[in-house]
Amino acid sequence: MAKALLKVGSQGPSVKEAQKLLGVGADGIFGPKTEAATKAFQKKHGLTEDGIIGPATWKALDPTPAVAPPDPLLSGPALVLPISPSRKPYLTVGSPYGPRTSPITGKESFHSGIDIGAAQGTPLIAIGSGLVGKVQELHAVNGNAVFLDVDGYRVCYLHLYEIHVSEGDAVVVGQTIGLVGTTGQSTGPHLHLTVYDPSGNRIDPATLYPAEWLRNRQGEPLLG
Ligand SMILES: [Zn+2]
Repeated sequence: MAKALLKVGSQGPSVKEAQKLLGVGADGIFGPKTEAATKAFQKKHGLTEDGIIGPATWKALDPTPAVAPPDPLLSGPALVLPISPSRKPYLTVGSPYGPRTSPITGKESFHSGIDIGAAQGTPLIAIGSGLVGKVQELHAVNGNAVFLDVDGYRVCYLHLYEIHVSEGDAVVVGQTIGLVGTTGQSTGPHLHLTVYDPSGNRIDPATLYPAEWLRNRQGEPLLG
């Protein structure tokens, strides 16, 4: 399997793997230190010093094409969060997946995804590479919405301020697909993220991520 292309803003197990090979702190988040280490490594090996870990840099980093054991966290599409970690102060889940009292109707309802609070205009990024399956403009409930198809999963981003992709577009992981907003049935700027698995069953999007990546309103880990 081809290694993921990694650059500033990338997250996840493959970043951790690269960080171990580079000998920098393996926190799974590609920041300035990892970029500097990548450039130094590229210089040493006569590679283009762009700070991006692509096929050539991966090959130099890890010449043995080891078959990695399946990582349960990678059994879904989510390799990166829908909002960049540089926006970390906002990466708190306002309303988790599951039964709740609707903030709109005041009635008991099932919350079909997770809400991630963020300022209006915050870039929303593709959590995996795939295709734009559907786009909705100012839908009564969803507002501006983008539906991505990633590895058989359907990933739904709702309440956007702006949509930056069109139906049928190919998107790469980390690409900006729109901006956080509060269109449709929404009480304030946030991303509502719904995910369907390849069987068409709705799943809790929080389970696609390591527990430490998502926190509830009190700052407590959501999982574990
Ligand atoms: Zn929601």
